[in-house]
Amino acid sequence: MKSNEAIERLERIGLRPSVQRLSIMEYLLTHPIHPTVEDVYQALVPEIPTLSRATVYNTLRLFSEKKVAQMITIDDHRVCYDGNITPHVHFFCKECGKVYDLFDENAPSLKRPKLIDGNMVDEEQLYYKGICKDCMAKKANN
Ligand SMILES: [Zn+2]
Ligand SMILES: [Zn+2]
Repeated sequence: MKSNEAIERLERIGLRPSVQRLSIMEYLLTHPIHPTVEDVYQALVPEIPTLSRATVYNTLRLFSEKKVAQMITIDDHRVCYDGNITPHVHFFCKECGKVYDLFDENAPSLKRPKLIDGNMVDEEQLYYKGICKDCMAKKANN
């Protein structure tokens, strides 16, 4: 059973809601854990054996280009995706590599492209980095 939200997002950007696209969007919406292409692929391939990594990669890129998902590139080694398109701050743990949402922090929010110092800015991201509470707890126990 696919949520109306997933269908609505695909229709909004004029994409045919194929099983693969819907499943990928649905996964993003129900797993706010900032999954990578590999995470999404591993989660969905048991139910969609015809799925390929290239399809997941291309679909997630398309979603982020069309702004129905966020692409998060905190470091070169790790690109992850977020179905939550409301601006929010991300926190990257340098120990475990997890990406957390910090909803209480003020996030920059551009409603539309904006000229800043002569540059046309159409995207904004704010990342915090450090050590997460789980990793700090582990350190304290050792
Ligand atoms: Zn951590
Ligand atoms: Zn997020």
